[in-house]
Amino acid sequence: MPHRATHVLIVEDDEMVQSLLTAFLQESGYSVTAVGSAGAMWRILDTDRIDILLLDLGLPDEDGIAVARQFRARYETPIIVLTARTGHGDRLAALEIGADDYLVKPFDPREMTLRIENLLARSRGTPAQAQSESMALGSVRLNLEAHSLTLANGAEVSLTPSEYSVLVALARAPNRVLSRDHLLDALARTGDAPGERVIDVVVGRLRKKIGDDPKHPQVIKTVPGFGYLYRPGRD
Ligand code: CA
Repeated sequence: MPHRATHVLIVEDDEMVQSLLTAFLQESGYSVTAVGSAGAMWRILDTDRIDILLLDLGLPDEDGIAVARQFRARYETPIIVLTARTGHGDRLAALEIGADDYLVKPFDPREMTLRIENLLARSRGTPAQAQSESMALGSVRLNLEAHSLTLANGAEVSLTPSEYSVLVALARAPNRVLSRDHLLDALARTGDAPGERVIDVVVGRLRKKIGDDPKHPQVIKTVPGFGYLYRPGRD
């Protein structure tokens, strides 16, 4: 049985699919909000807390892959991607940018609820990763609630929203190169006027705060021509 009041957000512009899914999930005991565009999704997220996102990749206002990527840069919430496209490219792209699972339409709604249950169990089973309030970054701790760093000497250093967004995006993708473009998505909703130079400036400030040598950085590496990469410490 699903947990009480598990809140599912469906982002799907096909009204038939949206209403069928909504009815099925409500019957299965979920609290469901359904919207038909990425814009409406962002508005819901500004006010509501959700437990899982069901995201159609073919949306009328924004590219689904880009939406998933922006969402993942900001939230740990599990994502299931819904796609009518059968190409491997889309599914791989979705998983690479942080979707947790995908379903190709048309799918059996019972399969959908199984996937949801599995994902929720997985995210509850790894609280340290999914919901923890801090992350270790080498000798530094990133405090997710306080938007601050605790240094090895115990000092606490606060982060601006843009520093926080970029650091979280990097830290959630250890050993993966993130392009400036990807990091700009992470910044897109913090209010900073984004431009590629902004990323370089923010990374420079972050290196200073976490004690990374700006001339020979070991934690946030520059990958010339691509972007940046977070390298976790060996401990
Ligand atoms: Ca669609």
